[in-house]
Amino acid sequence: MGKVIEIVLDGLRYDVMRSSMGYLNHLVEKSQAALYRVKSELPSLSRPLYEVLLTGVPSCESGITSNQVVRLSHNPSIFHLAANRGLKTAAAAYYWVSELYQQAPFNHFTDRIQHDETKPIQHGMYYFEDHYPDTHLFADAEHLRRTYAPDFLYVHSMNIDDTGHKFTSDSAQYRGSAIKADSILALLLPLWIKLGYTLLITSDHGMNEDGHHGGTGDGVRDVPLLAIGPDFQPGDYTEAYLPQLALAPLVCRLLDIPASPAMVHIPVPGYQPVPV
Ligand SMILES: [Zn+2]
Repeated sequence: MGKVIEIVLDGLRYDVMRSSMGYLNHLVEKSQAALYRVKSELPSLSRPLYEVLLTGVPSCESGITSNQVVRLSHNPSIFHLAANRGLKTAAAAYYWVSELYQQAPFNHFTDRIQHDETKPIQHGMYYFEDHYPDTHLFADAEHLRRTYAPDFLYVHSMNIDDTGHKFTSDSAQYRGSAIKADSILALLLPLWIKLGYTLLITSDHGMNEDGHHGGTGDGVRDVPLLAIGPDFQPGDYTEAYLPQLALAPLVCRLLDIPASPAMVHIPVPGYQPVPV
């Protein structure tokens, strides 16, 4: 069983990842990563899609149909499934992740930093400003990784989404925020790859030219997935869409834990588990 780091760059559309994130594309070009084009679930909104990514359950079944549904998830998440199997879990993420899997509503003063090994997310650092710098978010994640050695680390940044809302997807600022995230990843990923982590880099949803998401256009639904690790044959698998519901059960397989009954097994091309 390998350790998994899942990185969710909130609000990153597929085409901007391809055009603006040179380091990530370098990993694809040099056969270090498998690249997929994911079609997000609907609605293309954050909280419903955090639930999709972390439980594999679509919003009509989860009841997390809107960003305004503020309550714990009713479904077992990857955090629950991993912790129940004795694995260590950690997250550096937006506070809605704490509201879905730890407790709701979020208390800014007591919930920002949480260490409790009886909870699904055993070690968590949560931010609650959308402009909380990605540099600091990734530093939080690296602190959690170095200090607690989690088997599953969830890293969730917000600056790309925040910039897209302020300036639209067709702006120097939005593309610039993607470049900044790429530069941070260019500093951290070489170390994480060297240490043998399996890495998944994706997004919840994209962004449109009005500075919104929530609808059905390719700009808001098409997001990237890069997969790096011994179980993935590097290459470009973008000819067909990968359904977003494929991600949660994939993480369970990578962690060698049983998927939840609600998760649907969807084949992922290029994924060839190395026999243990
Ligand atoms: Zn947003």
